[in-house]
Amino acid sequence: MKYAVYTLGCKVNQYETQALETMLRERGFTPTESGADVVIVNTCAVTAESGRKSRQAVRRLKSRNPGALTVVCGCYSQLEPEQTAALGADIVFGSGDKHALADAIVRALPARQVDDPFQRRAFEPLPAGAVSGRTRAMLKIQDGCDNFCTYCVIPYTRGRVRSLPPEQCAAQAADLSEAGFREIVVTGIEIASYGKDLPGRPGLADAVEAIAHAAPKARIRLGSLEPTAVTEAFCERLAALGNVCPHFHLSLQSGCDSTLKRMGRKYDTAAFLAVCQRLRAAFPGCALTADLICGFPGESGEDFSQSLAFLQACGFFYVHAFPYSVRPGTKAAAMPGQLTLEEKQARVRQAGEVVARLQRAYLESCVGRTLAVLFETGSSGHGENYCPVRIRGKAVRGRVENVLIDGVDGATLLGDVTNRTE
Ligand code: SF4
Repeated sequence: MKYAVYTLGCKVNQYETQALETMLRERGFTPTESGADVVIVNTCAVTAESGRKSRQAVRRLKSRNPGALTVVCGCYSQLEPEQTAALGADIVFGSGDKHALADAIVRALPARQVDDPFQRRAFEPLPAGAVSGRTRAMLKIQDGCDNFCTYCVIPYTRGRVRSLPPEQCAAQAADLSEAGFREIVVTGIEIASYGKDLPGRPGLADAVEAIAHAAPKARIRLGSLEPTAVTEAFCERLAALGNVCPHFHLSLQSGCDSTLKRMGRKYDTAAFLAVCQRLRAAFPGCALTADLICGFPGESGEDFSQSLAFLQACGFFYVHAFPYSVRPGTKAAAMPGQLTLEEKQARVRQAGEVVARLQRAYLESCVGRTLAVLFETGSSGHGENYCPVRIRGKAVRGRVENVLIDGVDGATLLGDVTNRTE
């Protein structure tokens, strides 16, 4: 049996698709570009636009593979199971229970199985590993979120915080290292809350230490991080490991205190700036990246200017700026002061200009440095700080080499391998 899969959304979705593919391969399925017997769309609901793209992907895969069993899972189908079924899906799952989904596909039973995410109590361990051909692997250590930011639907699609115990994190990391992966990306829906559901309440640093010790040959990259996790002790423990990548993606969302308060975020700009300083002290030259929501309800022009100035104060390498998206049922959807799409898009463009300057400045600061590049092709890859790097000569895909950076071409660093690291 052949399957085709399309994934929207975050790293957790990518990871869960990889795990589902592993389970399908174990059950005798093979991937295909065309003529699939089963098409699977792992959907996203984080914005209205991702919901629209999810529906579009289902329609597209269905029409390209007439007669195939159509399977839809993920956050959009969790939130909108009826609308998903109306698209013609044969199997509708939500964001949980991938083992049962693999079994349902095998049996090819038309099924509707969207559970109540708030009833989920245990973390669902999925097989460690990545689809062959990828150089970096993702390791999901946490699911769910208890924060209920006023704009976000994720707690309603993913349920409460559940975590993979540290010893299981270590076992999965060891498997990935054994399989030859040189980089492990530690992901989850809200990894700063890691462990609050586990006996003894281990923290994120405990999980990262377990992973780093179990996979000493791999470098460890953290996925998107709430700034509240980044204490002095957290930075010291991670820096002491020696194989944690100096790249941190922080969920900023706004650089204006009154907007952060209305968003229900748990920090202000002063606390966030202290987090950036802490990370830079522990990881000199590290790359900091962030997310920014443009045009949150009630965000004035002055509020947004404050946000742009704050991006510069933080000295980010890159910021993913996107328009606020109304998610029905959230507190923010009912707030006064909703901006038009044009107003929000204009702010995204404004942010883009600031981000382009910041990006250029960070890339230029890398000239003269030696970066450890994991090669994803024979001539390009990413440094430990996640900057894209291209070399003039040839390298071996999947290996890590030291590259002396001597130039910048657009958003890519240029250089040459200085010495072989392995
Ligand atoms: S921390 Fe806030 S934005 Fe992130 S998933 Fe939880 S509720 Fe959503």
